[in-house]
Amino acid sequence: MMSRAKSEKLFAEALKYIPGGVNSPVRAFRAVGGQPFFVHRARGARVWDVDGNELIDYVLTWGPAILGHAHPKIIAAIKAAADHGTSFGIPNPFEVTMAKLICELVPSVQKVRMCNSGTEACMSAIRLARGFTKRDKIIKFDGCYHGHVDSLLVKAGSGALTFGHPDSAGVPAAFTQHTIVLPFNDADAVKAAFVANKNEIAGIIVEPVPGNAGLYLPKPGYLEFLREITQINGALLIFDEVMTGFRLAPGGAQERFGNKPDLTCLGKIIGGGLPVGAFGGRADIMDLLTPLGPVYQAGTLSGNPLALAAGIAALELLSEGRAPQAPEKKSEIKSGRRDHNSRSERPIWGNKSVAGLESQTPPSEKDAYARLETLGRQLEAGMKDAAKSADVPVTFNRCGSMFCAYFTGGPVWNLAAAMKSDRERFKRYFHGMLAEGIYLAPSQFEAGFISTAHSPADVEKTVSAAMKVLRGL
Ligand code: PLP
Repeated sequence: MMSRAKSEKLFAEALKYIPGGVNSPVRAFRAVGGQPFFVHRARGARVWDVDGNELIDYVLTWGPAILGHAHPKIIAAIKAAADHGTSFGIPNPFEVTMAKLICELVPSVQKVRMCNSGTEACMSAIRLARGFTKRDKIIKFDGCYHGHVDSLLVKAGSGALTFGHPDSAGVPAAFTQHTIVLPFNDADAVKAAFVANKNEIAGIIVEPVPGNAGLYLPKPGYLEFLREITQINGALLIFDEVMTGFRLAPGGAQERFGNKPDLTCLGKIIGGGLPVGAFGGRADIMDLLTPLGPVYQAGTLSGNPLALAAGIAALELLSEGRAPQAPEKKSEIKSGRRDHNSRSERPIWGNKSVAGLESQTPPSEKDAYARLETLGRQLEAGMKDAAKSADVPVTFNRCGSMFCAYFTGGPVWNLAAAMKSDRERFKRYFHGMLAEGIYLAPSQFEAGFISTAHSPADVEKTVSAAMKVLRGL
């Protein structure tokens, strides 16, 4: 039995000074019961709590730690950057390097602006879509999360075409009246919304692989359909790749599934574990931002040198050995600007790190995405076997290194199906796994993540623990 005495003491203290004892609600363990533990340190695929318990971590700071915690190259880049100052509010070279990297690697992005969180990225992308189209309405999908933006904190209304209602106290109904909430993977609902709101819809914002209600995948052809229907109706397609960006492929879900949105929101991995966000896309749309255009967007700490040094180090490691995207791929995007495509014919990440350190890529980072896929496949096969042998109905969804085990027999393609999961069972499973030294997200409705620092032996240990826990449920 693990001792949690120090964590319990800290939590009691935290409750006195921090609402709910946490700085982001899911950390409070309310969805699974019990109390959160406090982390002392993290390295690779592991975290150690303040009581000295060691855990294999599948939360990975909610996605950013794709290379494992405290990667030496990322830590070195942060230290080197910090020696020169922590923030300037004046342009710095990291901003140019990061923008070039993102534009090279993310298929649809021609220009990009950095901000400080995924929430900011989504809020700004929506403002930009509205400014560009001169329309107000936005379609979002239930189960997709785009940060705590007022107008996006909306539940589905009683019918697919009704406007949403605020999902949080403090959000005036008027702020959400331009948000249309629809079920994911339902093309007819989207078609009907465009008919009912002709020439009024500025855009669709979507997590191309929704990871905020567990994890479910787009049905074949669904993302292509969203691309087509937005184009036909003069609306923009916004991919929220805060979670999937640089996780499902260097170019995110849009590379993996071969889609080109007009705008893309990024965060998490591109900050190497420091606070960051970014949004980018077609140059003709991005150029509407201040100071060039009328759409206002700003940030005191945007382009922060520490966050960008960390993010650049992470992206360099992830793109190691990979040829840059063929220039002709980007020219397929409809845009007023073309000069961008001729910019780089050779890898811009090269062999040097941002800090000037030689890149000594450990074997785990070589072919990072192939390794993540292999580990993901191993976990999926093991978990399916474990559930079968324990005779517990589990739907295990996976896309690359993102996964979710739902306690339901049916397929899960949207929120309604995800909600059928037996959450009491999940709670027992979560605590059983924690007792075995495996840390999963403390909610049924969160995705799990694998890093390049996880080993096949870690996955094997996880599957053995799941076998034991599932049998005891
Ligand atoms: N969009 C998606 C898809 C996310 O998963 C998240 C956070 O988990 C956000 C936006 C908000 O990002 P942040 O928490 O950095 O504000």
